[in-house]
Amino acid sequence: SDRTFTMIKPDAVAAGHIGAILAKINEAGFRIAAMKYTQISKEQAKKFYEVHKDRPFYDELTDFMSSGPIVAAILEKEDAVAAFRKLIGATNPAEAEEGTIRKEFAESMSKNAVHGSDSDENACIEGAFYFSQTEVI
Ligand code: ATP
Repeated sequence: SDRTFTMIKPDAVAAGHIGAILAKINEAGFRIAAMKYTQISKEQAKKFYEVHKDRPFYDELTDFMSSGPIVAAILEKEDAVAAFRKLIGATNPAEAEEGTIRKEFAESMSKNAVHGSDSDENACIEGAFYFSQTEVI
C-alpha cells in the first residue's frame, strides 16, 4: 500500500520539533494526505494502543500519549509503511541510525518523538481512528 499513519508525540511537540520533523518527512518524499493538531484523552489512548494492553509499559504509554498535544497525519509514498519506519529509526533511540528522526529528536524508549504504523492493516485502522473519509485528501 502507499499510505501510512504517523503521530508526532507529545515530547517532540513540547520541544518545538513539529516543523523540523515535518521538514524531514517532506524531504524524504512523503505527501501529506491528512493532518491534525489534537490531544487525545487517556481513554482514547488506551483504545488506540489496545494491542499493547498486556505489556508492562501500557499505562505509562497511554499516560504519556494523552499528556499533551500531538500531530496526527496520514502520509503517502510508495511502500509507505516500510519507508516511514526506515525514516523514523529504531524504537529505542540509542539504537536508531544516524539521520533518522528518532536519532535526532527522541529522548528515550517511551518519549521517542514519533509513531509509525507497523503494517498496511494497522495504518488503515490507525488513520481511521483520527480521520473521517472526507478529511483524507
Ligand atoms: P510505534 O508503534 O510508536 O511506532 P514501535 O512500533 O517502534 O513504536 P512498539 O513496540 O509498537 O514500538 O511500541 C509502541 C510504543 O510503546 C513505542 O513507540 C514506545 O513509545 C512505547 N514502548 C515500547 N517499548 C517500551 C518500553 N520498554 N518502555 C516504555 N515504552 C515503550
